[in-house]
Amino acid sequence: MTTNDTLTIVNPATGQPLAALPAASADDVTKAAEQARHVHDSGVWSRLPVRERSAVLLRLADLMERDAEFLARLDSEDAGKPITECRTGDVPGAIESVRWFAEAADKVFGRVAPSGPDALGLVTREPVGVGAAILPWNYPLAMACWKLGPALAAGNCLLLKPAEATPRSALHLAALATEARLPDGVLTVLPGHGGVAGAALARDPLVQALSFTGSTTTGRHILKAAADSNFKRVSLEMGGKSPQLLMPDALSYGDELIGDMIEAAFLTTGQNCTAGSRVLVHHSIAEEVVERFVAAARELLIGDPADPRTRQGPLIDRAALDRVAGAVEAARAAGARIHTAGLPHGLPAYGAYYPPTVITGAPAESAVLTRELFGPVVTVETFGSEDEAVRKANATEYGLAASVWTRDLDTALRLARGIEAGVVSVNAYSEGDITTPFGGWKQSGFGGAEKSTNAFEQWTREKTVWIRTR
Ligand code: NAD
Repeated sequence: MTTNDTLTIVNPATGQPLAALPAASADDVTKAAEQARHVHDSGVWSRLPVRERSAVLLRLADLMERDAEFLARLDSEDAGKPITECRTGDVPGAIESVRWFAEAADKVFGRVAPSGPDALGLVTREPVGVGAAILPWNYPLAMACWKLGPALAAGNCLLLKPAEATPRSALHLAALATEARLPDGVLTVLPGHGGVAGAALARDPLVQALSFTGSTTTGRHILKAAADSNFKRVSLEMGGKSPQLLMPDALSYGDELIGDMIEAAFLTTGQNCTAGSRVLVHHSIAEEVVERFVAAARELLIGDPADPRTRQGPLIDRAALDRVAGAVEAARAAGARIHTAGLPHGLPAYGAYYPPTVITGAPAESAVLTRELFGPVVTVETFGSEDEAVRKANATEYGLAASVWTRDLDTALRLARGIEAGVVSVNAYSEGDITTPFGGWKQSGFGGAEKSTNAFEQWTREKTVWIRTR
């Protein structure tokens, strides 16, 4: 049983207990922050020549590569994620993050201000000192590495709190960091409860920067805690309700379009912050799109996440199932049409399974159109003009991602300019790659992007050194 003192990790597909761990208390967090501050001040990492820091992180990436299969299994078992997704997406992406930031560390330069002949204004970047990362359960290793990569490469110490359900890959990462000869105390993994260890990190006076990925509700708590404590800088990556816009010529992409729509909607069983959970399609092609999309969704293999053929696993828990099923039933009661093949027989009895579901004809005020459901449920709405498409795309409080399908470059660029989101992909479902910034607009994000060299901004602060020349 999970209590305030322990975390019991349970496979969401089978109910099999996987581990019981001590949960970090508020006191543990305080001590870890003091220790991290001490290690930072010692200079063992912060003042290590940057090439040597890179070498440690490159060794860590190599060790992750060695243990890639083990890391994939940890995330798949803890989160109920299909193992194939972990093997082909999460783990290679996590390794790439560590390697890319290790290689980028010595390519971030300071500036010299154009101050004239009487002074030299040097603008340098320094580590913030002690940083903290608070993670969600849906991409445990990948989110850890998006944050750990730039934080450590920039010379900080990092306190990393994984989600309650999925701490094992982060703990293994810490063991690999030790094997890679990262100095003791530079990375501390604190498995624990959000309201205890997470809240303690958010109000800790020694933590100077906190990067959070999770729900908007928790994001608000963290921002308040930062304001009530030491004004630590906070960056928040939160929920989404991302649109997929299909213009009249979109079907010319054929199976590629339908395949990408399926991935956008149902990756990680729809439990994905950038899930393309709202299809907006021009009315002239709506009938054919719905028919092909629903047919493809019915084909997705639902089953045990450990089976490499499985495309849809269980939801993270019963509460998620109740939330998703409740919203779909409310839409049905309000007159919407629900398209689903239902669940196959013989699923692991314990798992909170919900079948891929497409909803058409939901009334404008339905929760399914505006609320993040975090499950395998997609709505389809139609539009008649570009203006209407953009208006509907922007009609949520979120602004994380969007995709646009058209062969007309002018249309694509007009739509990309009109959509309020941090990432707009054209003729693909994509969050970009490690070289492009990722961060939400509106209530999807706040305080700076992840990935790309922009990520260093979260974990460093600028200093002006003003030298009078005579
Ligand atoms: P959550 O907010 O419930 O939990 C996230 C983390 O916050 C966990 O580690 C949790 O222990 C911690 N936490 C909870 N209460 C806290 C508090 N009071 N103070 C400090 N920490 C606290 O979110 P979740 O259910 O784990 O993840 C799902 C959400 O994450 C979805 O909304 C999803 O869209 C979002 N998400 C966003 C991105 C992104 O990059 N934008 C990526 C993945 C997931």
